[in-house]
Amino acid sequence: MKEVAILGAGYAGLRALRELQKQSELHVTLVDHNDYHYEATDLHEVASGNQPKEKIIYPIKDVVDPKVTTFIQDEVEKVDPDQQVIELKNNQPLHYDYLVVALGFESETFGISGAKENALEMVDVETAEKVYDHIQAMMKKYKETKDKKYLRLVVCGAGFTGIELVGALHDGKKRYAQIADVDPSEIEIYCIEAVANILPQFDDQLTQYCLDYLDKWDVHLLTSSPIKAIKPERVVYSNNDTNKELEAGTIIWTTGVSGSHVMGESGFSEKRGRVMVNDDLTDPDHNNIYIIGDVAAVMDKESERPYPTTGQISLQMGEQAAKNIMQQAKGEATKNFTYKNLGSVASIGNTHAFGYVGSTDVKGYPASFMKKMIMNRSLLKTGGLKEVMAKGRFDLYH
Ligand code: NAD
Repeated sequence: MKEVAILGAGYAGLRALRELQKQSELHVTLVDHNDYHYEATDLHEVASGNQPKEKIIYPIKDVVDPKVTTFIQDEVEKVDPDQQVIELKNNQPLHYDYLVVALGFESETFGISGAKENALEMVDVETAEKVYDHIQAMMKKYKETKDKKYLRLVVCGAGFTGIELVGALHDGKKRYAQIADVDPSEIEIYCIEAVANILPQFDDQLTQYCLDYLDKWDVHLLTSSPIKAIKPERVVYSNNDTNKELEAGTIIWTTGVSGSHVMGESGFSEKRGRVMVNDDLTDPDHNNIYIIGDVAAVMDKESERPYPTTGQISLQMGEQAAKNIMQQAKGEATKNFTYKNLGSVASIGNTHAFGYVGSTDVKGYPASFMKKMIMNRSLLKTGGLKEVMAKGRFDLYH
C-alpha cells in the first residue's frame, strides 16, 4: 500500500486528511507536535482572555479514522525529498510515497532588534495563553507600583491579526481593570503601524468603519510609524523622521508571518518559509510533494502577486492536494488549483466586524454574524459536525 504523509494538522493538513479518508487505497500518516488542532484565526480570543483555549481547540484523534490513518505526535525536524523520508525528533524516520507539507506559519520579526526578546508572539495556543498570563501579571504589577505603563498594551502592526487583537483587547478591558483595581478607561490600548493606510485589502468605506470604532474606543492608532526596535518594556518607532519611544508593560508582535523554518532546513526553494508551488500545488522540484497552506505561495494571475495566506485558501488547497494525490496514485492527471475567494471578514470585538462576502460589503452586526458562520464552516471542513456542535459559535446575540 502506498504511503501518504501529512505534516501539520492545521486548516490545510486536516482538510487534506478528511478528503483522503474518503478512500481506502492509500495509507495516511499524519504528524503534528500537538495532539490537538487549533483555530488559528481565533488566537486573539485566547490572547485577550475572552475565551479559554478549550473553546478553540479539539483533539486530533476525533478526526482520525484508524482504518486509513495513523497519527504520530512528534516534531518534524526536516524532510529529505531525495530519500523520501521525514526526520522526526522522537521517532524513526518516516518514509512516504506522497507528501503533503502543511506546517503553517511562524512570527516574522523582519530583523527588528529586540522584537524576539522583548515582545510577545501570538502564533499558537501556548503563546496566546502567555499573552493573557502576561496581561494579568502586568495588571497586578500596576496595583503594587501604580506605574501607568503597566496599564498600557501595545499591538505592533495593524494588519488583520493586529486589528482583530485590538478589538478583543478592548472587549477584555473591564476584566483587566478589575485586576488592576482601576476604571476600564484607564487601560490604554495602542496599535503602531508602519504604513499610512491600514488594511489595503478592504475598500475605504469599510476601513473607515473600523477606524471609527477604534476612535470611539479610544484606541491610539499610530500610523506612518514604523517600529525600529523593541527594548524591554519600550517600543521605539519613527514618526516624521523622528524616533519616539513608548513605554508599555505589554507589547505584542503582529507585524506579519513567515512559513515554517522546516522549509528552509529541508532545502525547498523557499522565501521566508514559503514555496512558490506549481499550478497543481506540487513542489517545483518534486511532483510527489504537495506544499499547502501558509508554507505555500500561489500566484494570483490577475494581480500577479501571491494570494494572501488565510484559513480559507488553506482549506481549499487541502482539498485540492488530496484529490490530486488520489488522481496521481491512479496514474491519472492532476488538476490545477483555482482559488475561489468567498470573502473576507475581520472582527473588531465580539459583536462588530466588517468585510465582504462575495461581492457584497458587510459591516456591523450582520458582519459579525457572517464571521461566526465562516468560523463554523471552517470547523465543519476540518473537524466535522461533532466539532461544530461542541465548539461552534452560536452566541449570535451577544
Ligand atoms: P500582515 O502582513 O497582514 O499585517 C502586518 C502589518 O504590520 C501590516 O499592516 C504592516 O504594514 C505592519 N508592519 C510590518 N512591519 C512593521 C513595523 N516594523 N512597524 C510597524 N508596523 C509594521 O500580517 P498579519 O496580520 O499577521 O496577517 C498574516 C496573514 O494572515 C495575512 O495574509 C492575513 O490576511 C491573514 N490573516 C487572516 C485572518 C482571517 O482571514 N480571519 C486573520 C488574521 C490573519
